[in-house]
Amino acid sequence: MSAIIAIVGRPNVGKSTLFNRLVGKKLALVDDQPGVTRDRREGDANLGHLRFTVIDTAGLEEADKDSLAGRMRAQTETAIDQADVILFMIDARLGLTPMDQPFAELVRRSGKPVILLANKAEGNKGKDGVMEAFALGLGDPVPFSAEHGEGTSDLLEALAPYV
Ligand code: GDP
Ligand code: MG
Repeated sequence: MSAIIAIVGRPNVGKSTLFNRLVGKKLALVDDQPGVTRDRREGDANLGHLRFTVIDTAGLEEADKDSLAGRMRAQTETAIDQADVILFMIDARLGLTPMDQPFAELVRRSGKPVILLANKAEGNKGKDGVMEAFALGLGDPVPFSAEHGEGTSDLLEALAPYV
């Protein structure tokens, strides 16, 4: 059975961009789960010589503000439960925001291995944000760019022991 990697973080950090990069055109998919947004996606990932299952989280299906946070949380928790390793993503250009914290807390509490990706750091951008990410206590942040593929070899190296 292949290892399961969940991509976790607040909306807009670049999770789905990484998911699409990892699964390429082979978008295997969409499992409707009651109470969980239908936008949850799962696929077969290729990264260098590594093959694994990747889960994208926190697609938001409906704009019901009252339960929005609840649904995001539930979906993230489910993905974390299923995961062998968590890719926790922040936006290095914005640095840490209050909204990153509850997601980080879920990851921390799981006790599972985590790789901290400081995304949107292409061309050496977001250096301050990368430094801020150390404060999460989730290990050394990996500067990364889901959009441009920078940091891919570092991600590969970080994942290799678990896959
Ligand atoms: P999600 O909500 O976490 O799934 O984030 P998305 O993957 O939908 O990306 C949110 C926005 O960030 C989109 O406009 C992306 O094009 C942009 N984005 C994602 N990755 C990068 C990156 O590495 N660099 C930059 N500059 N923008 C990115
Ligand atoms: Mg997304």
